[in-house]
Amino acid sequence: MNFDLTEDQRAIRDAFARFVDERVVPQAAALDEKHAFPRELFGELAGLGFFGMRYPEDVGGSGAGLMEFSLALAEIARGSMSLAGAAAMQSLMGTKFLHMLGNADIVERLFKPALRGEKIGAICMTEPDAGSDLGGITTTAKKVDGGYVLNGRKTWITSAPLADFFTVFAKAGEEKKMTIFLVERRFEGFAVGREIHKMGVWALPTSEVGFSDCFVPDSHRLSREEGDGEAHLRKTLAEIRIITGAMALGIARAALAAAVAYAAERKQFGKAINRYQAIQFKLAEMATELEAATQLVHYAAWLHGTGRPHHKEAAMAKLNASEAAARICDQAARVLASYGYAMEYPVQRYLRDVRFTLIGGGTSEILKLIIAKEVTA
Ligand SMILES: Cc1cc2nc3c(=O)[nH]c(=O)nc-3n(C[C@H](O)[C@H](O)[C@H](O)COP(=O)(O)OP(=O)(O)OC[C@H]3O[C@@H](n4cnc5c(N)ncnc54)[C@H](O)[C@@H]3O)c2cc1C
Repeated sequence: MNFDLTEDQRAIRDAFARFVDERVVPQAAALDEKHAFPRELFGELAGLGFFGMRYPEDVGGSGAGLMEFSLALAEIARGSMSLAGAAAMQSLMGTKFLHMLGNADIVERLFKPALRGEKIGAICMTEPDAGSDLGGITTTAKKVDGGYVLNGRKTWITSAPLADFFTVFAKAGEEKKMTIFLVERRFEGFAVGREIHKMGVWALPTSEVGFSDCFVPDSHRLSREEGDGEAHLRKTLAEIRIITGAMALGIARAALAAAVAYAAERKQFGKAINRYQAIQFKLAEMATELEAATQLVHYAAWLHGTGRPHHKEAAMAKLNASEAAARICDQAARVLASYGYAMEYPVQRYLRDVRFTLIGGGTSEILKLIIAKEVTA
């Protein structure tokens, strides 16, 4: 394995780092406090080609690898986890199944405009009684003439209040197996429900959505066959985990940088607190955890790019990066003490936002089950 990034990878990372320093960092706190979706920045990310990075050139993408995408996404998360969450949704789960399974009309009318930031996509899997256990979803899709009728309720849907189209997992057929549908916001019987007030990622709205006798034409059954939803979902899981790990790295880097800067400036008992070994040890441990987590995320992304088996490593990378990032943000808040608790400093935001990475892409417990299954096989 080559530990050096290629020249192209460094160029991509540096371009997004500049964008984040110039455009995202100065606005992130205000957007968060106002609970305002970063529309302008979202459009600028589209302009930078971020949403199309993982898609081929013939549909308007640039065919970048997961490593390049992860490097860029980590930079965005360093500036704003809300923007990173919105961008990750738009470039992966919100659009992936349209590209993979959608017909020409869906690709032209919804997918391509989404890569340009003109339409917003969302994914609807989680339900009030089915989170980790997706097999337990109860949203149904009943076959009728010319299409399906969907009934059910989804929750925790990222970008739902703004989204134009929704990739929906529902049970269809005699055997009630997971099938993927595309629901457009304008469809009768579809409604965006109550917004969920969250602990973090305040600039990225999350809502319930409901389907009440919602007719979905056959053209919008994304699944090739009823019941193939789980198989298609499996193809994306490693990618989701690696990029969630990448977002955790970005927040952790911001938290470490804030702690290092504060420790150099803050004086107590006559000297800067970074002269105290207790603080130095915290910073040393945070930096070491971050480096180790970075290497594992990069390793998983590299494995993914080579086409070698990578499911275990993707789960390990996400588990390790999100848990390390949560510890790093916690330690950063301790270094800042009362200022780590103050809304005018960004560390409280990192501490709140990082918890998203502990849940999205599978909780730590679920990831441990996946890793254990491979380890004990
Ligand atoms: C900010 C945010 C945005 C989200 N966006 C979306 C979205 O856009 N679309 C979408 O569909 N979903 C979304 N989700 C939902 C997310 O995918 C689920 O929250 C996640 O799958 C976990 O489900 P749950 O919260 O219902 O927890 P549960 O599955 O109820 O888990 C509760 C606890 O039990 C543990 N547990 C569960 N099963 C087991 C087991 N077998 N063994 C051991 N422990 C277990 C879990 O690890 C956890 O600690 C979002 C969530 C958040 C927080």
